Amino acid sequence: MNIIVCIKQVIAGDQVKIDPHTHRIVRSAEFSRINPFDLCALAMAVRLKKEYSGTMTAVTMGPEISEEVLWEALAIGADRAVLLSDPRFATSDTLATSYVLGMGVRKIGKYDLILCGMRTTDSGTAQVGPQLAEELNIPHVTGVERVEGKENLFRVERTSDGFREIAEVSSPALFTVSSKIGMRTPSLIEIEDTFTRYTIERWNLEDLDADPAKVGSDGSRTWVEELIPIAKQKSCAFIEGEPRQQAKSLFAKLMDKNLLS
Ligand SMILES: Cc1cc2nc3c(=O)[nH]c(=O)nc-3n(C[C@H](O)[C@H](O)[C@H](O)COP(=O)(O)OP(=O)(O)OC[C@H]3O[C@@H](n4cnc5c(N)ncnc54)[C@H](O)[C@@H]3O)c2cc1C
Repeated sequence: MNIIVCIKQVIAGDQVKIDPHTHRIVRSAEFSRINPFDLCALAMAVRLKKEYSGTMTAVTMGPEISEEVLWEALAIGADRAVLLSDPRFATSDTLATSYVLGMGVRKIGKYDLILCGMRTTDSGTAQVGPQLAEELNIPHVTGVERVEGKENLFRVERTSDGFREIAEVSSPALFTVSSKIGMRTPSLIEIEDTFTRYTIERWNLEDLDADPAKVGSDGSRTWVEELIPIAKQKSCAFIEGEPRQQAKSLFAKLMDKNLLS
């Protein structure tokens, strides 16, 4: 089974800084890490590769510094790693990102399955997976917890609205992976070994033979006008009286703040 895993580098949640001029997230190696949801996609890929053999290719679109997440993916078990990087890809929205990833997948060649995380921890639209499937004109299922391969068919299981859903999907297909399946992080020995055994392939817009009008802000139908940090306010109030009276007062306060319905 030839598997491609799309992974993204994100800024650790409490370290997000906004550039006051461009209103964009400041990406720095110091606070960057692999999107935690993509560790679940990598864990699923490692399991399937063990069960069905085949190959596992990790791909990311991002600035040069995002190669770090590819080294981590190689340490976890990927056989190949591809960085799609070009200054013209900057400010791509999910549509433009899916186009670039689509061109990358076409250049990687034969594949049976694409795995993505459910969403990212930075903008978290959860749109790239389904959009990439549309770009490649292949079927997709979101939030899968189990995947079985049979000839040109996948049998997948997921939980949705309290129901266990089982679906059969023709190959090639794209699945976003539920975070319920758990994550896989590499050991130090695996990381050390990776640097000696692998190299990262780097493709820019020309290598992908991509259309410049479909990437970056030109290729985007949405843009982030402004990012306004939400000022977190904390206040503390002591409720006096007997426990029953305290419970009544607390209930009234919560109702007032529409925290109870
Ligand atoms: C605050 C903020 C808000 C934004 N809002 C929007 C918006 O409303 N609409 C919009 O179109 N764009 C939006 N963007 C731009 C969007 O963040 C980028 O297009 C981004 O590259 C992909 O979107 P995402 O992080 O939401 O990915 P998601 O759709 O949440 O990612 C799902 C999965 O797709 C894969 N994936 C996502 N990005 C990459 C990548 N670069 N390389 C490899 N795999 C990847 C991963 O497997 C990931 O788990 C926003 C950006 C910011 C910073």
